[in-house]
Amino acid sequence: MNKLNNGTGAGELIFLQPVFKEMIWGGRRLADEFGYDIPGDDTGECWGISAHPNGDCTVKDGVYAGRKLSSLWQENPELFGRDKSEGVFPLLTKIIDAKADLSIQVHPSDDYAKVHENGSLGKTECWYILDCPDNATLVVGHNAASKEECARMIREGRWNEFIREVPVRKGDFVSIVPGTVHAIKGGIMLLETQQNSDITYRVYDYDRLSNGKKRELHVEKSIDVITAPATPAKESIHNFADTKKNVPVLMEKSAYYRVWKLSVDTKEALTLSESRDFDSSYLLMSVVAGKGELNGRELKKGDHFIVPAGYIDLNFTGCMELIVSAEVQ
Ligand code: ZN
Repeated sequence: MNKLNNGTGAGELIFLQPVFKEMIWGGRRLADEFGYDIPGDDTGECWGISAHPNGDCTVKDGVYAGRKLSSLWQENPELFGRDKSEGVFPLLTKIIDAKADLSIQVHPSDDYAKVHENGSLGKTECWYILDCPDNATLVVGHNAASKEECARMIREGRWNEFIREVPVRKGDFVSIVPGTVHAIKGGIMLLETQQNSDITYRVYDYDRLSNGKKRELHVEKSIDVITAPATPAKESIHNFADTKKNVPVLMEKSAYYRVWKLSVDTKEALTLSESRDFDSSYLLMSVVAGKGELNGRELKKGDHFIVPAGYIDLNFTGCMELIVSAEVQ
């Protein structure tokens, strides 16, 4: 019953063409494991659902084929359950392939970014670990007891003491609120759901060279925004590897988004509803494993799409895992 709420095609699933980013720490897994046509062997990020000016996704097919997501947001607010458009598209979904370690970084809050970054949004983000080696770790938080000690450790380059590495495994969900020191380590593949912002303060980059020079660091801004002492790691990491099937499992509710894991495993149709099961007027979905169908349309690992406002039923079949997100309005 994929009835549309009107006859204009407003209820069509909106499949997006990802934007890829080459990075000094990137690799090939986005091609080898997700089948994407990547620009080079150092591809680190697939921006799957994004309306950010640094990577604005294009609609792949259907009535909106060729349109940018930012333009849909501005000119077709009804797709997002709104009477008129306002602000910018709120979220951004990425898949990250870290062949090498990412820089140690921290993001500002909305309030700090508004003043210091030209009115930009701050960045709250979260990670779902798709794959990682045995004994993998991430950097989440730091070991300084106070703001003063934090500033001292950074200025004196005492990275081994400062950085807090925590063990992670496949299926872990990690919340990164503004002010959290964090870094993805080599070997990890993850899906990131974040506010629509590209503001990152790099604290330390392992003294690496990119095109012959070190990438810019933002030490003073980092010291400004880092929370000290850090939140205990166990409060921000939870495992969702084996969740109940055929029902959306809420992994995170922040001030900006809710994120679910949906494991579909059925030959019969699984019927969900945007309003009833997700309490949202529109949804962002990424297929991270397997394949199946949604309302008769084939889905496979690597697909990113938006379920616009007005869907009556979502009929899933097949065997696949999706990460679903919705803005908090
Ligand atoms: Zn980040």
